[in-house]
Amino acid sequence: MSIDVNGKNVVLTGALTTMTRAQAGDQLEALGAIVSGAVTKKTDILFAGARAGMKLEKAEELGVTIYSETELAALLSDESAIARVAAKPVQASADVMQEIADGEKVLVQGSAAKPYELTNVGGVYSCSCPAWRNQSAPIDLRSCKHLAKIRGSAAETARVGRKVSSVTASKSSAPKYCWPKSGKSISIPPVFG
Ligand SMILES: [Zn+2]
Repeated sequence: MSIDVNGKNVVLTGALTTMTRAQAGDQLEALGAIVSGAVTKKTDILFAGARAGMKLEKAEELGVTIYSETELAALLSDESAIARVAAKPVQASADVMQEIADGEKVLVQGSAAKPYELTNVGGVYSCSCPAWRNQSAPIDLRSCKHLAKIRGSAAETARVGRKVSSVTASKSSAPKYCWPKSGKSISIPPVFG
């Protein structure tokens, strides 16, 4: 059995026994689900653990698809296994700009005074920067802009299964203009910088 959560609005409720709701939420997000806290008309799937209350009632009322924790656990164990298998061959592909060999250490100057240490220990790539250390993903699925800078954004994106950029997003955001639908003349705002 396979539940497709990609692009779906998903809500978790009740007590889970094999994982925390936060862990389940992170994993569902990694599979492309949009996890929210409240059941609404937009909700596609409700995963209900033990003693689920109001949210379960509301989901039933709204005709939301409801799954149990057993099905949730099966989905997550299944998908993570698939993701791991799929991610492995990519590490050796031509996408990698500069590989960090197993046991090797690479220093990258970041925003801190001291350079960050990037290491590969048995295929687990880590960085000493706060962004890497504070990520909620499992250690083998964490990345950061420093790893992306060395190994390449494409290689890191493929390895962890989500977009990793070597630059901070806020720095590259261009101003956005709204164009009128038709005919009207507008004044174009000046371009700064
Ligand atoms: Zn880093």
